[in-house]
Amino acid sequence: MFEGITKSLGEAFKKLRGRGRLTAENVKDGLREVRRAFLEADVNFNVATDFIARVEAKSLGQDVLARVDPSEQIVKNVYEELCALMGPVDHKIPQRADRPVVLMLCGLQGSGKTTTAAKLALTLKGQNRKPMLAAADLQRPGAVEQLKTLGEQIGVPVYSEATNPVDVCRNAVAQAKRTLCDIVILDTAGRLQIDDALMDELKRIDKLVKPDECYLVVDAMIGQEAANVAKAFNDALELNACILTKLDGDARGGAAMSIKGVTGVPIKFIGMGEKVDKLEDFIPERMAGRIMGQGDMMGVVEKIASIQKQMSQEELAAQQAKIKDGNFTLDDFRKQFETIAKMGMKDMISRMPGMSEMIPEGEDPELALKRVQGMIDSMTKKERADPDLIDTPRRRRIAKGAGVEPHEVNQFLKQFDQVRVLMKQMASMSMWQRLKMVTG
Ligand code: GDP
Repeated sequence: MFEGITKSLGEAFKKLRGRGRLTAENVKDGLREVRRAFLEADVNFNVATDFIARVEAKSLGQDVLARVDPSEQIVKNVYEELCALMGPVDHKIPQRADRPVVLMLCGLQGSGKTTTAAKLALTLKGQNRKPMLAAADLQRPGAVEQLKTLGEQIGVPVYSEATNPVDVCRNAVAQAKRTLCDIVILDTAGRLQIDDALMDELKRIDKLVKPDECYLVVDAMIGQEAANVAKAFNDALELNACILTKLDGDARGGAAMSIKGVTGVPIKFIGMGEKVDKLEDFIPERMAGRIMGQGDMMGVVEKIASIQKQMSQEELAAQQAKIKDGNFTLDDFRKQFETIAKMGMKDMISRMPGMSEMIPEGEDPELALKRVQGMIDSMTKKERADPDLIDTPRRRRIAKGAGVEPHEVNQFLKQFDQVRVLMKQMASMSMWQRLKMVTG
């Protein structure tokens, strides 16, 4: 995701580095490159232009400039403005005591609406709510069946009847009330393009069923066109939020960065894959970090935190303290691997500092993890706590135990040393310092 813009922004910032101080001229120069990077990533022209104007005004108005490297100052301003451009976002989904909450999903055909309806239902189920899905897409052949299959898969009831979309929605709400479901998700029909028939149908549902919230599901792969689609739907329906799908693909960033700027409607969730568990909160700070090449440290940290909820607080605190003091041992490292394994590793590994270096080009990350685990497991407890104890004969034995060459053990231990240093640095860094470390 966002490889293009991350790379070109990196180059833009690099050009600014080393300039003695910020002047109107070099700010303009640097920001011209940033603007070019935005446009290449398919950000809406007006959004990009206004964005640059804001960063420029902010950068030139700062009087601490003389003492700071211009690139640092501008990177920071770009980051902050990016967060403001895409946020703020409230991830809460309404609750009511008197009747089921009704969420209406709308969007073009193929945007991922039906899939997202199921993802959302699963998320709500995870929050101890009782969702029901309403199959109101009577337009796309197979949509009703698809929703039923998904509903079965996630254990959420699906209401359907072969009448008309308004009746499906109304009767679904009545059924939800009877069966004590507390939230109904309406999977409405899309069209290949925005047309009057589609909008009329949606407006009718909106008027007669009165959903509590209306979310637009929109495909990130269509770039800034997503913002135009959002505008058209917002004009007709007053959207509460957008759900941006297919961000796991090679979307360039135009959709994520343009939607709120063009429409004022925030992105609330993102689709990160075809499977039903691939829905995430849209976090502007994290997205800005990704765009700017910070990797996804914060995302990883959060994901680990959610999995480690099972771990005791003391255990977590102890691990944090170890990282901070540089006492991060091979045992801790192995524990992290297990966590990664639980998380569906492949996408995670490349996002963790120090981890990706451990995997030779072209090697399957899963195999690489097994290889490293094998080496750690072949060490004694003492060696795991203090790898300096490992001499040549021990290295040979460990290699033999793990089925690798002795030099691989050597190489791994060296890399682990670097990871340890990196972890220590990152533990004591502020968010801004981390950003700088990676973009620098
Ligand atoms: P609908 O016509 O809007 O209901 O679209 P569907 O839910 O049928 O989705 C269209 C296609 O997009 C399907 O092949 C989905 O599997 C796929 N899809 C939906 N969301 C995502 C996502 O977040 N990532 C990826 N890679 N594919 C998705």
